[in-house]
Amino acid sequence: PSEANAGLIADLIRDVPDFPKPGIMFKDITPLLARPSGLAAAVTELVAASPRDVDLVVGMEARGFIFAAPIALALGAGFVPVRKPGKLPGATVSETFALEYGTETLTVHSDAIPAGARVLVVDDVLATGGTVAATAALLKQLDAELVQVSVLLELTALDGRAKLAEHGIERVSSVL
Ligand code: AMP
Repeated sequence: PSEANAGLIADLIRDVPDFPKPGIMFKDITPLLARPSGLAAAVTELVAASPRDVDLVVGMEARGFIFAAPIALALGAGFVPVRKPGKLPGATVSETFALEYGTETLTVHSDAIPAGARVLVVDDVLATGGTVAATAALLKQLDAELVQVSVLLELTALDGRAKLAEHGIERVSSVL
């Protein structure tokens, strides 16, 4: 990222200790989203860090949606939401996994991602990597190709990249 954009983005992400549970340092992106220059810098840098040749951009509920949709627009790709159970009306595939706080199940519409589709996965924060790994497993169920993972912020102490590498995901890009 440009130094100016990186500084702006970092300054607008608020650290909230012990949320949603004791011991978690929550990275709150709402100040970034509320500032026009911050939102623009975040989307610009995520687009700059992402490959051009993707068919679909997948965002995970809920903060992944915020960035995945404008990235899809910029890349000329479609957007597909990965959601928590009971939200999608059509036939779905699902994956259950452990994350930094608790366990979670993620689902996606079975007909939203054709076999062989080239997919970019987008989220706000990469923590343990559980969410991305589960999303990768959803893509695998549908025989789609995960081209890259792009996130705004990576909590490097949690070593999510190592977990993703165990799942064969090597192309991970984080703005901060
Ligand atoms: P993980 O599956 O552990 O990589 O967690 C990533 C997901 O949980 C992302 O969707 C993030 O939005 C959220 N998340 C996990 N840890 C944090 C954190 N410390 N601050 C903000 N969001 C987090």
